Amino acid sequence: MPSKILISACLAGFSVRYNATNKALVNSTLQQWQEEHRLVVCCPELAAGFSTPRPPAEIAAGAKGADVIALKARVIDATGSDITAQYLLGAQLALKTARLHDCRFALLSDRSPSCGSQTIYDGSFSGQTQPGSGVTAELLRQHGIEVFCEHQVEALIERVKAAEKR
Ligand code: SF4
Repeated sequence: MPSKILISACLAGFSVRYNATNKALVNSTLQQWQEEHRLVVCCPELAAGFSTPRPPAEIAAGAKGADVIALKARVIDATGSDITAQYLLGAQLALKTARLHDCRFALLSDRSPSCGSQTIYDGSFSGQTQPGSGVTAELLRQHGIEVFCEHQVEALIERVKAAEKR
């Protein structure tokens, strides 16, 4: 059975980012997977009830997604609102979606406090980044889903092919 891949809605071309833009990823293999109905599109933030546009958000004080999941850190938006609960809900809904569709892999948009898997912002709202994962990417990893970002598409494709040869 071919693997299914959870993909951030903004990478799939939907303008669901906080500023109502997308980060559409053009790749022939992704296009083929889409035609084969192997891509499962998900936006954890919209699933949790946010609308577009919305204020940008960051994990506070240089913390990471794992700290948020452990209830040791908060997600704050640019107005100062604590939106931790919604981010945790979005992560849980993304995990539920991944499990429902039996996704073993995820291709998520980097730098997001939800979907970031390599890099996130440092909580200062100054454009500074740091290595780390957002809340959804971290929760998916904690449950055995292999997470890749948009800069790792070729690595994802290789990994999926290798898994299917077994
Ligand atoms: Fe894209 Fe994820 Fe942010 Fe939704 S939560 S806009 S899918 S990066």
